[in-house]
Amino acid sequence: SIKMSGKNISNLNDVKNRFLLLPKSAVEGLEHEPKKSDFKFIKELGIGSFGTVYLVSHKKTKAIYALKAIDKSVPENIEQKANFNREVEIMYKLNHPNIVRLYGHFEDEKYCYLIMQYIPNKDLFELIPTNGRKPNIKLITSIMKGLISAVYYLHSMKPIIIHRDIKPENILLDNNYNAYLTDFGWSNYMANSQIKRTTVCGTPLYLPPEMIEQLGHDETVDIWCIGILLFELITGTTPFEGNDFKTVAHNITELKITWPPKMDPDAKDLVSKILKLKGKDRLPIDL
Ligand code: ADP
Repeated sequence: SIKMSGKNISNLNDVKNRFLLLPKSAVEGLEHEPKKSDFKFIKELGIGSFGTVYLVSHKKTKAIYALKAIDKSVPENIEQKANFNREVEIMYKLNHPNIVRLYGHFEDEKYCYLIMQYIPNKDLFELIPTNGRKPNIKLITSIMKGLISAVYYLHSMKPIIIHRDIKPENILLDNNYNAYLTDFGWSNYMANSQIKRTTVCGTPLYLPPEMIEQLGHDETVDIWCIGILLFELITGTTPFEGNDFKTVAHNITELKITWPPKMDPDAKDLVSKILKLKGKDRLPIDL
């Protein structure tokens, strides 16, 4: 096999303009770098901000995956190259029942692809009790349990991994309502960019106060977001109201929570122990 600058290239696709780190198993000669034609495309699962996710089956093994295709020619994606690499590197390290697994990645001239665990997803939004519906406490408890277990795992890693973007869109559910955390694009990433992105795409409903004030932050930002999510799943609304970024941001930094009149007192007590302005005052995760 051909060696080039110490790397075995015979197993790699012929790609001039690499976007992501080289797939390790191909570099080590364990297998060929996968290619698009190894997969049968079954349907589109969803369009995200960075790419399209497809349901695919691997032709040889018949295994089912969610394949995310990221267009390498889109300027925003080129701008986010370092983050994609970080996302991929972090996801490879993670092996937890409530975190979407990354099994591999590959690229061709036009796209890079992430081979992920397929979660036959019910939307977490479906469970938000809007229009006076009653919350399904049993389901919410089970989802929160899974999510907290995932976050505990991330915070136990060395070095610590902070997700930084916990919200309904980034939690997938399988048919048994098991929760899977995904989208690690913003983990271990600068707070400023998080604010910039939130400003661009609308309201900062899940943004912790220390990130709004750009004070520096630690893993307790994830606990804040768990508190917002718990509030939303129980009440159907988010705790900090406002029609524009500025008002919501102001209410967050002043801790002006809008409690719905009939909120369960135990739930209210729990949420108020999580939503503290200072990270160190937030209820710690303990399993
Ligand atoms: P982006 O990070 O580019 O915003 P997402 O990761 O949010 O993209 O994916 C877009 C959509 O694709 C999601 O809303 C979801 O419906 C679907 N999806 C993403 N990952 C999976 C997965 N592992 N299994 C099933 N569906 C998924």
